[in-house]
Amino acid sequence: MIEILRAKSAGFCFGVERILEMAEELLAEKNGPVYCLGELIHNPQEVERIQKMGMKFIQDPSELPKLDHGGWGRVLIRAHGVAPRVKEAIKARGYEIADGTCPLVTIPHRFARDLVTDGYRLVIMGHREHPEIQGILGEVEGAGGRADVVSGIEEIGQLSLKASDRVGLISQTTHPYPKFAELISSVLEKVLEVRAYNTICYATFERQDAIRELAPQVDVVIVVGGHQSSNTNRLVEIASEYTSCYHVEEASELMAEWFQGVRRVGISAGASTPERAIREVCHRIRTLVGES
Ligand code: SF4
Repeated sequence: MIEILRAKSAGFCFGVERILEMAEELLAEKNGPVYCLGELIHNPQEVERIQKMGMKFIQDPSELPKLDHGGWGRVLIRAHGVAPRVKEAIKARGYEIADGTCPLVTIPHRFARDLVTDGYRLVIMGHREHPEIQGILGEVEGAGGRADVVSGIEEIGQLSLKASDRVGLISQTTHPYPKFAELISSVLEKVLEVRAYNTICYATFERQDAIRELAPQVDVVIVVGGHQSSNTNRLVEIASEYTSCYHVEEASELMAEWFQGVRRVGISAGASTPERAIREVCHRIRTLVGES
């Protein structure tokens, strides 16, 4: 019988549970239209569920319909947060903001503002196009500064650091800690002063640690989560360092040949993955190997 081992920490994080509760509560009030700026979480099935409850999705505040005189509507800011100018644009169109920015995402916002205000050259580790990084860059811009974004130490050369630079370092909340640690020591070799804040969230730490512990014990790892989810993709990267790893968004993507000759399967899931999806994957694996 195939053994299915689940990572000690996997699935919904605090910030995702919080934003889903906020969305459900706002929609349950049935008190005017509720818009969400961007995909609520990186899980298409959950997004579809919330959309069926009545949430309207937009990509930019300019898409908000003009409110009639005395009209009222709300815009939910997702856990990734947004730049201050985006909030201003929403308010300028007469909408109220329901701010679901994860409290752990506001930590890099604060450190980024402090570092540029204190005169440090800010370098952020993460993915420039990720909405969380866009939000941090907006905070930096609001504080009158600028920042460079790198995803790994191989990009440090582009920064043209000088020994006299005072460098401030923070990270996207979902970046792998070893990469951030590498960045800190590499920058420290080039400049005289580095001030670094570990802004990787505890949920990311726990999930990454758990998959590092699990992956060497199994023949294959299945990571469940949105294909666009940054934290899920990091879990896949980590597991792949130890064993075969496949990334699926839902159980129907699993292939029988992945489990041929396999005795132990490890399961992990990104922070936007509901428990239901994890259970379906476990059940489907047993079906594919003829055990249910
Ligand atoms: S991964 Fe961390 S920072 Fe992101 S929403 Fe979840 S708890 Fe918040």
